[in-house]
Amino acid sequence: MLKFFNTLSGQLEEFRPIREGKVGIYFCGPTVWDFAHIGNFRSLGVFGDTLRRYLRYRGYEVMHVMNITDVEDRIIKFSKEQGLSIDDYTARYIEALWEDFDALGCERPEIMPRATRHIDEMVEIIKRLEATGHAYRSEGSYYYRISSFPEYGKLSKINFAGNIVGGSERVDTDKYEKEDARDFALWKAAESPDEPAWDTDLGRGRPGWHIECSAMSMKYLGETFDIHAGGIDLVFPHHENEIAQSEGATGKKFSNYWLHAEHLKVEGESMSKTKGNYYTFRDLLEKGFDPVAIRYLLLSVPYRKQLNFTFEGLRGAAKTVESLRDFRARLAATRTEAGSNPELRAAAARALEEFESGMDDDLNTSVALAAIHNLSREVNRALDTCGLRADDQRDILELVARFDSVFNIFGSGQQELLDAEIQSLIDERQDARHRRDFARADQIRDQLAERGITLEDTRDGVRWKRRGA
Ligand code: AMP
Ligand code: ZN
Repeated sequence: MLKFFNTLSGQLEEFRPIREGKVGIYFCGPTVWDFAHIGNFRSLGVFGDTLRRYLRYRGYEVMHVMNITDVEDRIIKFSKEQGLSIDDYTARYIEALWEDFDALGCERPEIMPRATRHIDEMVEIIKRLEATGHAYRSEGSYYYRISSFPEYGKLSKINFAGNIVGGSERVDTDKYEKEDARDFALWKAAESPDEPAWDTDLGRGRPGWHIECSAMSMKYLGETFDIHAGGIDLVFPHHENEIAQSEGATGKKFSNYWLHAEHLKVEGESMSKTKGNYYTFRDLLEKGFDPVAIRYLLLSVPYRKQLNFTFEGLRGAAKTVESLRDFRARLAATRTEAGSNPELRAAAARALEEFESGMDDDLNTSVALAAIHNLSREVNRALDTCGLRADDQRDILELVARFDSVFNIFGSGQQELLDAEIQSLIDERQDARHRRDFARADQIRDQLAERGITLEDTRDGVRWKRRGA
């Protein structure tokens, strides 16, 4: 039985989706002001990928949405310094993000919405919040009225009693007049003509950060959906505010399960540029590390435990990955006689049981990886003594492939697009063209081209082929 630790209830709970066989996941994605760092990739890369892959392994159809925050103070500041529009500035980091995802062997989410493309949806929610008394306008900006939502604090379990206007705790740095120091910005009025801003029913301005996730999650997954995930730093205030906004607007429960990944530390310390222990995924590739070793290291500690990233650990992970690959290569290359070895059959059954019970237990990847290591040890021993038979060879190779559908550590890591994924992108491109959304259609063509898929528009429809095929 698959169980997740739900931050909302503070307990391990059996996973029950809203619609049978289907799961909707919303993951809080990166702010694209710079290249994503390895902490980001532990959370939205490898943890998000493991979650979606294991749900699929368990037979669910997954709809995974991960937003891209492409308007925010740092983006505004740096784009201005470089004389670029925010779109031109962020394009480079968005492209790099997907390159890194591919290199790390992470599947891309089904939908990757950008904040700047969903301003209308955010404005709609703010209008709904104002109409229901949850939001108010002050000096052209809009704020969420926390006193209107008595359940505020239910996710983070922070007791807000007594934290009133003028209180010393958590006084927000918003400059405008607010009714209560805790209230947070939904919409920020434009202050100067040259800052990025949108003309909307709320006036000229830009959205606060939290509102984008309420708008994009509900747009793609519905007002109530299954899983909301992100790094632990987001519990408060971001996710608490998302709940207040979404539930305030709809009157319905927002997300059923809340999953949070613990932060990654580097050599025992929080990562920071000033300390010199800040690494992007690209930095590690430049140092010559294998992306699969990085993936293995990020997988090796269950997502709710703190992971201490060290170079020694990374070198160890590289050796482990190599030994696993050797094991599989040896297993595949051995000539075997017909039949099966009961000991190996039992070892394979045990490995499957350990793998699944580990993963069912809130994605305990370290138990599941241990199952693979135990199996490889037993198989290697059998190979040394010529104890492997043809049925074992076939069954264990198949089992390793099943494990690897979740871990993706035996191959090069690079994710190959499946035929079905290619077809669905082509369908989406056709849809975009019918809607005359040529920008999106071109984007999909480019995305496929990057992955080695070329398209040919013929009178009978679109044909595709793999480069070099
Ligand atoms: P950001 O770009 O800072 O909004 O972060 C994007 C995602 O990475 C969020 O889910 C964060 O919680 C997560 N994140 C940021 N820093 C770390 C870290 N050191 N370890 C793990 N996850 C992190
Ligand atoms: Zn978010």
